[in-house]
Amino acid sequence: MRKVYPCIEVDLLKLTHNVKEIVSMCKKKNISVTSVTKVFCAYSPIVEAILRGGVTDVADSRILNLKKLKHMNCNKMLLKIPMISEVYEVVEYSDVSLNSEIDTIKHLSKAAKDLNKTHNIILMVDIGDLREGVLVGEVIDTVREIIALDNINLIGIGTNLTCYGGVIPDSDNLSKLIKLKEEIKDTFNLNLPVISGGNSSSLHMVINDTMPKGINQLRIGESIVLGRETAYGEPVPNCYDDVFILKGEIVELKNKPTVPTGKLGMDAFGNRPKFEDKGIRKRAIIAVGKQDIRLEGLVPVDDNITVFGASSDHLILDVTDSKKNLKLGDIVDFKMDYGCLLSVMTSPYIEKYYYETTCVDELSKIENF
Ligand SMILES: *Cc1c(COP(=O)(O)O)cnc(C)c1O
Repeated sequence: MRKVYPCIEVDLLKLTHNVKEIVSMCKKKNISVTSVTKVFCAYSPIVEAILRGGVTDVADSRILNLKKLKHMNCNKMLLKIPMISEVYEVVEYSDVSLNSEIDTIKHLSKAAKDLNKTHNIILMVDIGDLREGVLVGEVIDTVREIIALDNINLIGIGTNLTCYGGVIPDSDNLSKLIKLKEEIKDTFNLNLPVISGGNSSSLHMVINDTMPKGINQLRIGESIVLGRETAYGEPVPNCYDDVFILKGEIVELKNKPTVPTGKLGMDAFGNRPKFEDKGIRKRAIIAVGKQDIRLEGLVPVDDNITVFGASSDHLILDVTDSKKNLKLGDIVDFKMDYGCLLSVMTSPYIEKYYYETTCVDELSKIENF
């Protein structure tokens, strides 16, 4: 196969390994892992590698992604609060959805009735991050309304932290969920099976053994794909951080000054750039740009390469200190943070390959949407 650049390569063996590690550390604390697939657009070879790691529940924020999973043998969760305009698709393509608006849940109830299905709901509770969720004081009244609805099954309560407000999960805020579960049990004689305690930012509590007893589900995306927890950005023990590698080709390689010549106006994105004078440097232009990547999240695998900047299609690197004797046409590898990986996986201009064996020559291609 002739490889096309820029591309991303996914090492599925490493990915399956990360899933196994995280599933096993959570299992010891009686927590089940719901694997979040949105950052890689739920491409099916990648989802299958995740399932091989021992998860049975997957979650995505987009119906379009859940549709791709329709024929896979796993439970599907919709993460994003549903739109009223999509309730039929929500019932059709997900087994459970996260919700915070009783009116939307009423629409889901009607859709489920029309489709002759029962739809599961996790009620999201805002315990401080100010993204989605009903406030703690509204939970009991909302539950009362939900359990009166036909074709709706309230299976749990959950929360999401460190997404908007940057609030770090701890035993104080997560204990609120457990208290609510007890309150719901006492008020309605309803024993909710699922207490969903957040995303990759809650994993540090599993690692440090500070997770309050009773939290029994985490929805994990980033820790699985990038091998790090997101409360403090620490590596997850025994996990790989190089499952996904971006590769780009050098299209220009020249020694040039580091400060532009001429009167300086705005760059291609309307910013006024500043330059530090480092003298003449060996600069490589890579054929990839801001249309595909989030520049701030790009990290060259070669420690001796740094990023100068990028326009929409040209990424400019300082390769002066690289020990490799880079040439025109050579390929440069990059790791990515979550935001950059999200943009790369979503870009139709980036080819996507994966390998499933230790033999890196046996690449397969993932078709775009
Ligand atoms: C994206 C998302 C997750 C997963 O977050 P990670 O930080 O990638 O683990 C979990 N829950 C909800 C509601 C999400 O939107």
